Amino acid sequence: MRVLVIGAGAVGLSSAYFLAAEGADVTVIDMRGIGGGASRRNAGWVVPSMSGPVPAPGMLLKSLRWMTKRSSPLYIKPTLDPGAVRFLLAMLRHCNPQDFEAGLRHLVALNARTFELFDLLQDRGLVFEFHRQGLLQVFTDREALHEHAEELRLSEELGAGPSAVLSAQAARAEEPLLGHGVIGAISSPEERYLDPDGFVDALADACQRMGVKIHAGERATDAEFGTDGIVRAVRGQSRWEADAFVVATGAWTSDLALTFGQRLPVRAGKGYGFDVPTAGAVRTALYLAEAKVAVTPLEARVRLSGTMEFGAMNEDVDPVRAGGILESARRYLSGWPSGPTPRPWAGLRPMTPDGLPILGRLTHHHNVIVAAGHAMLGITLAPVTGDIVREMVLHDRTPSEATPFRPDRF
Ligand SMILES: Cc1cc2nc3c(=O)[nH]c(=O)nc-3n(C[C@H](O)[C@H](O)[C@H](O)COP(=O)(O)OP(=O)(O)OC[C@H]3O[C@@H](n4cnc5c(N)ncnc54)[C@H](O)[C@@H]3O)c2cc1C
Repeated sequence: MRVLVIGAGAVGLSSAYFLAAEGADVTVIDMRGIGGGASRRNAGWVVPSMSGPVPAPGMLLKSLRWMTKRSSPLYIKPTLDPGAVRFLLAMLRHCNPQDFEAGLRHLVALNARTFELFDLLQDRGLVFEFHRQGLLQVFTDREALHEHAEELRLSEELGAGPSAVLSAQAARAEEPLLGHGVIGAISSPEERYLDPDGFVDALADACQRMGVKIHAGERATDAEFGTDGIVRAVRGQSRWEADAFVVATGAWTSDLALTFGQRLPVRAGKGYGFDVPTAGAVRTALYLAEAKVAVTPLEARVRLSGTMEFGAMNEDVDPVRAGGILESARRYLSGWPSGPTPRPWAGLRPMTPDGLPILGRLTHHHNVIVAAGHAMLGITLAPVTGDIVREMVLHDRTPSEATPFRPDRF
């Protein structure tokens, strides 16, 4: 079977990998290049226990409070764009305990095979920097610690890995850089993290070794339909014929879905990051919880990333907003290395109003499968998404854990 995957991010490449591994004839196109979207610009955490959807109870109040501060972790750009307003109102409707818990349940279930599939990729020879020593969420506020501990307890009950509350002293024993403002932490010893660049490159290499052709600089803009609703080809500068199409276009998915006649509400949640060349300075992967900043200690650099900005569909950097990330690092960590400020980068998380990915066939075009909208979990969920796409395309089966993510739920 000939399959065209549109989008060479973690999700598109994982889909290509699992399809090709079962013998499909796969081509990948990307308007930029391998990992040209969010898949190189993230914290690289593989965290089934952090499956809570973004729309959460109390998010509205928090975002209103934060909107007055330019370097806050969450920012909603004021807009009159009807699409953006509709999206935000829909997201607000999901900020209630029932939807949050249902979303958490669905995401934990989807994540059930996450570690197993990462292990499988490594066993099959994909080489990338992968750390298995767990993560520490650190807190300066006791109420926030209790809230997070409650969410992690719920994730654990639903099947995610264990977590334990640590005193400030115990947390400092794990990470001596923690400053005295830190009042406690939550340790999640089974969670993992990776180097995002290494991961997408390893996926792309493995795909190419299996004969997958990857074409950069090819933007899909149009489609050709058969009389039976089947899509025959996708067009950009070139024309790409296939038997099945996988739309894995991250934050850009709404536009392409419209080409196929389906409205899918995916919008960008912009995040920023810095790569600090201070290998060895930080021992443990840390989540600076109130500031919502992830600290990822990689072999050659420490990556700091965070912030969520709604309303922009570009990767322009707001220096004040990005600077908030460095400020937080200095607030939580004593002895954070000084030195020249590295250049910040921006990445676009593919967000949906209910905080859940979109995974399944288009309503009127059975041979088009969408795999997008993974928000804060696109690296974590890439392998399981790719494996489910394989099931859908090659066996016309939808595993039960994928049904909550159907595109026709909107
Ligand atoms: C600051 C930050 C931190 C994050 N931290 C984590 C984390 O720790 N753990 C985690 O699991 N996730 C994290 N994420 C989220 C994760 O990065 C994303 O969910 C994930 O990268 C999405 O992957 P994707 O393949 O769906 O999309 P992308 O990687 O964005 O790929 C989509 C690709 O489609 C291409 N494309 C778009 N439109 C077209 C078109 N019409 N034709 C051809 N090509 C097209 C783009 O060029 C792009 O390469 C983070 C994100 C950010 C921004």
